Amino acid sequence: MFKHSITSIFISFILSFICAFHLHANALSEGELAQIKRLKKTALNSDLSYQLVESLTTEVGHRLMGSEGDKKAIKWATLKMKELGFDKVWTEDVTGPKWTRGEATGRIISPFPQPVVVIALGGSVGTGKAGITAPVEHFKTLADLKKAPKGSLTGKIAFVSYQMKRHIAGNDYGTAVGTRVDGASVAAEKGAVALIMRSVGTDNNRSAHTGSMRYDDVAKKIPAAALSNPDADLLVNQFSRGKPVNFYLKITSNNPKGETVKSANVIGEITGSEFPDEIVAIGAHLDSWDVGTGAIDDGLGVAMVLASAHNIAQLPTRPKKTLRVILFAAEEVGLLGAKAYVKQHKDNMTHHVIGAEWDFGLGRIYKMTPGVGASSLNAIRELAQILAPMGVALAPMNNARAQSDMSLLSDAGMPSVNFSPDGSKYFDYHHTENDTFDKIDPQDLKQNTAVYTVFSYFATQSTINFRE
Ligand code: ZN
Ligand code: ZN
Repeated sequence: MFKHSITSIFISFILSFICAFHLHANALSEGELAQIKRLKKTALNSDLSYQLVESLTTEVGHRLMGSEGDKKAIKWATLKMKELGFDKVWTEDVTGPKWTRGEATGRIISPFPQPVVVIALGGSVGTGKAGITAPVEHFKTLADLKKAPKGSLTGKIAFVSYQMKRHIAGNDYGTAVGTRVDGASVAAEKGAVALIMRSVGTDNNRSAHTGSMRYDDVAKKIPAAALSNPDADLLVNQFSRGKPVNFYLKITSNNPKGETVKSANVIGEITGSEFPDEIVAIGAHLDSWDVGTGAIDDGLGVAMVLASAHNIAQLPTRPKKTLRVILFAAEEVGLLGAKAYVKQHKDNMTHHVIGAEWDFGLGRIYKMTPGVGASSLNAIRELAQILAPMGVALAPMNNARAQSDMSLLSDAGMPSVNFSPDGSKYFDYHHTENDTFDKIDPQDLKQNTAVYTVFSYFATQSTINFRE
């Protein structure tokens, strides 16, 4: 009996020690946990992010770097941050090359003449006013195009027909986008006069997908365009008749040599009450392609991070660390805003304690993947418990880089959390005239905003060092 009491005292001592240690190790106190639950509820019941993306798409529209829309968007974002209760708001200049889209026309000349829907790839040179009429050589993949002997495409248009596959995480984008990015220079090396390709998209609409391409320093710069998916099918079907295929392409894009345009990153903060120099960064890109209204890519990301910061700003007290919202300029034309940001803040990068971007569209978030120090994984598990009732699972790996722009901040050493949505539909609308407000599901947007709100509070209020 006596022995037993000693044992129970010993056990309860050990238990209380474990509990005390456990409490100490918790990222948030009970009061803070209650606060985060209230915040989650507030965010889930608010349509602020939906209203914000409606405002951006209605009052501003598309936001190609350097365009009138881009300038309007910078003013719009600056004003919204002030209205939403940010403590500090400023802009940082970003410069990039000038490019104007002009018009694009495509026509199958033979064997069976038909007009097709084409769009110039972002950054493409023009064809000249007369356009180009040339025989077409068909390749199923970029790898096949790469295998073509040098000179074998002299005077011809290269056509790559690879069809991107639908996937919840957009897994096939990496394969499909290779042609868009490098195809023109690869084709030019073989002597081609232009590149046409099937759009990088999963839809069957008769609208084509644009997106950035780049020229290497060696090959001649040739015009590059994407065909809508149904038109790529049409061209493939014409090839199946075994007769020579001729195509007419006219692009009036303009890439004036040496001319630049200006844009700006728009940055706002909710200043931390205890560690104002410690920055939790959430971001999205403010620019868009000049087709559609940039609702999905990335207007709703802009709206999500603005609304999340507003939710934090509405609390009775400021969280311990600073919440910084970065709306990046010129993501579409080569992460120019992110490059400028990393350059400008390189001496302060160690103060970026954790970050998350949103640039993956309209689906509901179902997974969180950390990219943090091993010792802070327990804290990430606590965050995961708060998010679990919303259907967000914690991925088993700890290797995430942040999305898009913020991948450059991850590369510069910032710990990250990456939230994954159901991206099955994203590439139906991506970079097309169908990227418009009506596609957004308000309930999904509420959920995603709530996830970012919860993450923002958790990361700014806890004293966990996510690098360790
Ligand atoms: Zn984007
Ligand atoms: Zn994009």
